[in-house]
Amino acid sequence: MSGAASQGRKRGRRLEDLSGPEIAEQITESAVIVQPIGAVEQHGPHLPLSVDHVIAHESAAALVAEHGDAHDLWLLPTLSISKSNEHAWSAGTLWLSAQTLLAVLDDIGRSVAATAARRLVFLNGHGGNSALLNVACREVRLAHGLMTFLVHPFVPADQGGASPDSEMGMGIHGGHEETSVFMHLRPELVHLEKARRAVPERLAANRYVRFGGMASFGWLSNDFGPDGHIGDPTGANAREGKQLFETAVALLGEQMAEIAAWEFGNDQN
Ligand SMILES: [Zn+2]
Repeated sequence: MSGAASQGRKRGRRLEDLSGPEIAEQITESAVIVQPIGAVEQHGPHLPLSVDHVIAHESAAALVAEHGDAHDLWLLPTLSISKSNEHAWSAGTLWLSAQTLLAVLDDIGRSVAATAARRLVFLNGHGGNSALLNVACREVRLAHGLMTFLVHPFVPADQGGASPDSEMGMGIHGGHEETSVFMHLRPELVHLEKARRAVPERLAANRYVRFGGMASFGWLSNDFGPDGHIGDPTGANAREGKQLFETAVALLGEQMAEIAAWEFGNDQN
């Protein structure tokens, strides 16, 4: 192989594009392995099922392209089917049970631990996975000794992330920001003429029991109405989506700097 081809492969930083022997050469102790996790689930009438898959996939690819050399990032293939059972009522949604996804993540952790890499990052595009991924971070750490991390291109509004005032903080699924980002990434797949405001204003009036409140609650995406999205996508636009996406990738890059330098040690003097 020519030097240029070797550089090309290295620039790609996709683990699957290396050969078996190259894994030993290129995946060293400093490698940060990035596992994008998406979803295939209903997102209301205006968006396709692929939204979370595309956002996880594209943000992880951009992250590794822009910050891979700086922090020795390596991209795994996107895990596109995950824990979407809040949308199980909507035919076409593909989902793994919590038990299955935890088992899959354990297997991925075991596989990564067979390389010299010591850091594994779950880059999650689907809010319904977040609680389980926090559990998986600890399980994989205990079972396989990896340092494990969970990051989000967009922290969900029900977990401390932002949602515009027009959505009263309730834009958690197919709302203004997610629709805008998707309009930037896949404009041809968005049907904004079908977008409707679906903000659970009754919930927004609560002090504690609300998305992002001190008291959390179990919910399904048709608990708030038949449309399946939760938020107000009517004003979504690709210009804002581009800005949100680029900001998210830059912020992920900053997080990777700390993750790449992360070590456990004796912090007691
Ligand atoms: Zn989504």
